[in-house]
Order: sequence, then structure tokens, then C-alpha cells
Amino acid sequence: MIDTSRRGLMAAGLAAAALPGLALAAAPPVGRQVPGLYRRRIGEIEVTCVSDGSIALPPAVFGEANLPETRRVLAEAFLDGNAPVPCALNTFLVNVGGRLVLIDTGSGDWLGPTMGQLPANLAAMGVTPDKIDIVVLTHLHRDHAGGLLDKENRPLFPTAELVVPEVEMAFWTDDANTGKVPQGSRGGFPYAKQVEAAYRGRIRRLARGAEVLPGITAIDAFGHTPGHTIYRVASGPAQLLVFGDMVHVPAVQTRFPDWGIAFDVDPAGAAATRRRVFDMAAADRLLVAGMHVGFPGLAHVRKAGDHYALVAAPWQSAL
Ligand SMILES: [Zn+2]
Repeated sequence: MIDTSRRGLMAAGLAAAALPGLALAAAPPVGRQVPGLYRRRIGEIEVTCVSDGSIALPPAVFGEANLPETRRVLAEAFLDGNAPVPCALNTFLVNVGGRLVLIDTGSGDWLGPTMGQLPANLAAMGVTPDKIDIVVLTHLHRDHAGGLLDKENRPLFPTAELVVPEVEMAFWTDDANTGKVPQGSRGGFPYAKQVEAAYRGRIRRLARGAEVLPGITAIDAFGHTPGHTIYRVASGPAQLLVFGDMVHVPAVQTRFPDWGIAFDVDPAGAAATRRRVFDMAAADRLLVAGMHVGFPGLAHVRKAGDHYALVAAPWQSAL
């Protein structure tokens, strides 16, 4: 009879450890994260959330005057309001009828070692940059578009068509707009021109509300940047709303949807857009995918009085 009492198991363990050849090998800590990949099926379309890593934002990014309230809601979300707040960065690889469409590119080598993990995560699923057919951007901020170019401004996607919302491309390639953006975002102007040069001949300027291809359609979400665009992924009745930068720190911007973040080009416009998109997602019970929603970024939006809450979508082990 097997003795399953605690004393019996301990005795058996001690005996095994004492036998030569049965000694357990030490398992050293791996010391790095597993690949940041998660898959979800939307009708006939397969979507893979591919992490680019995360970055930390100072709580004052929502305004010095809002710091006490920011700290309070961060504490409610079990986050330390006296330390930089984690901000995830997700991209979404969409397989539509065998074509691979990458929505946003992550930050490349531009924003430090905790970001720029997209290429390694794509490699972990067997996808090299030359396999991407279309790269489509929500907007031209470096955390979303930095993965387009290496530090010598060479294109990192050798064959992909690059689809950029035309309002966004027009804004960032016109130096007359330099004074309209926060100081820290002004590098976006030379960067947009580098992108334009590197991808010359294979850039499509996407009209407002146009299809990227059947199954992925643009929706205006202007404000955070002048051409910030979100995408509806649809197959039959199944839908996913890839909603870009509707939030950067969900705990804060769902509770205070009218607050701007320091990177907003038009904070009031961004706030109005946030309410419009949140109201639509809540009313239609849409599954949303956020670039800065904790990995894998999939959630639903619930209306909560005059504000909102994100409810994380449960893990699915099978497609
Ligand atoms: Zn962003």
C-alpha cells in the first residue's frame, strides 16, 4: 500500500534523494519571459496578438493637477502611483484569407530594451518580416511605427505594402504643423519623411473609412494624433475592434475618460473620440483589442455610470 500521508511522502522523498542516480537536477531560473503571443479567431480570420514589450510612464503624464486622483485609481488597480506605471505595447497580426496583415510595428530599437520585441516574438511563431504582406498603422507615433525602420533608416519589412491613414501621413510630413504637437513628439516630423523615403513606391495612403482589404476597415479616431485610426476586423457576424490608443493606462483613462495624456495632439478631441468609441464598443458588446491594454490586450468595454471599465477577455485554449 502506498503511504500518502505527509510523513510517508516526506520519508519517500528523503529516501529517493538519498539514492545515487535519483538525485534531482537543479532547475535554474530561465530569467526571461516566454514569447508574447496569443491567438484568437474572428470568424474565418485568425488574429495573433504579438507583444512588443512594455514601457513605464510617469503618473504625471495625465497632468500634475490630476496626480492625486491618478494615484488613487492606480492604487485601486493595485499599481504603485509613486512609481512609473507599466504601459503594455501590443501589435496584431491578422491572417485574412492567407494574407498576413500587421497592425502597427512596435517601437523597433528606438525606445529602449523593454520594447522592440516584435521581431523576436514574430520569429517565435515562424514569421519573418518578409512574410508580412501589409503593414497598416493606427498612427505614426514611434511606439507604433518605430519598427518600420532600423537605426540607419532602412526598411525592416522588405516587401510589405505600407498602409498609412492619409490624414496622418499628410500631417506628419508637413513641417508647418511642427508647432501643433507637444515638444516631445516633434521627432515625428523627420521620422515620417524617413518612412516615406524608405518605403517609397509601396505606400498606400488610406482614405477615411476605407478598407485595408476585405475584412479590415478603417474608422476615424482622430485626436490623440490628427489621423489616429482604428480598425474593424470582421468576418460574418464576428468582429474585433482594434482600437489603437484609446487608452494608455486603462485604469486611469476608463475612470477619467475626459483626461488627456501628455502625448495627445488634441486632448479634447482625443477625449471625445474615447467616449464615442467606448460608447460604441459598450453598446455593441464588441470585443476590443488595445495597443496599450495589458497583454494580450483583448477586452470588452462596460459603461459604469459616467465612465467605463475594461473587462479582460478570458483565455481561450482552443480556437
Ligand atoms: Zn501609443
